[in-house]
Amino acid sequence: MNILLFGPPGAGKGTQSSLLVERKKMRHISTGDLFRAAIKNQTPLGKEAKGYLDAGRLVPDSVTIGMVQEALNELRDDFILDGFPRNLAQADALDMILDEQKLKLDNAVFLEVSTDELVERLSGRRTCRTCGASYHVKNKPPKDGVHCDTCGGTDIYQRADDAPEAIRTRMQVYEASTRPLKEYYEKRGELRLVDGSGSEHDVYRRIEKALGC
Ligand code: AMP
Repeated sequence: MNILLFGPPGAGKGTQSSLLVERKKMRHISTGDLFRAAIKNQTPLGKEAKGYLDAGRLVPDSVTIGMVQEALNELRDDFILDGFPRNLAQADALDMILDEQKLKLDNAVFLEVSTDELVERLSGRRTCRTCGASYHVKNKPPKDGVHCDTCGGTDIYQRADDAPEAIRTRMQVYEASTRPLKEYYEKRGELRLVDGSGSEHDVYRRIEKALGC
């Protein structure tokens, strides 16, 4: 099954993708992770993208679509697209890319979360710089308080785009650019609305139910 996960920032796309990878052995493609890796490795793409990520704005389509096209090369079934598409032009580009590779999207899962819960999640979120694992200062600190549970790394930091000003920008970008995708996928009969509030395990069970898997 091929799916995409979308929703407002902080809806839990990354967390739910990790669970789907672990339990259903799906392949995960996250544009946010690809950009963060490029920034960490100081590649030309990373240098171009950094300012946009830090400010919480979308990286221009010309750059993003090219990057995704490359990442999706030789894609096989059972993938999760996390964070792409984020606007209608990217959704059209994705249709073309999948057509070229004779692949089909089965479900577009939209995670719904109230604005209050989103702000609470994002402002308390911390991320492992080494492996990208996600934590929360109150709800999900690393088990020993210091080391990443997944890779043992000690550099657990607050993403620049989880600072208050960038969170506001990301919410505005989401409203203007990404929310319209709901209607786009609804018209095609691919939209699956999932309540993304509460614990990650509750949300995961709702996703399984929505996907029938
Ligand atoms: P995420 O990890 O999905 O929250 O993405 C982090 C940031 O990466 C976003 O705020 C954007 O700056 C950038 N980004 C990720 N996906 C896209 C995309 N599809 N189009 C443009 N920018 C993106």
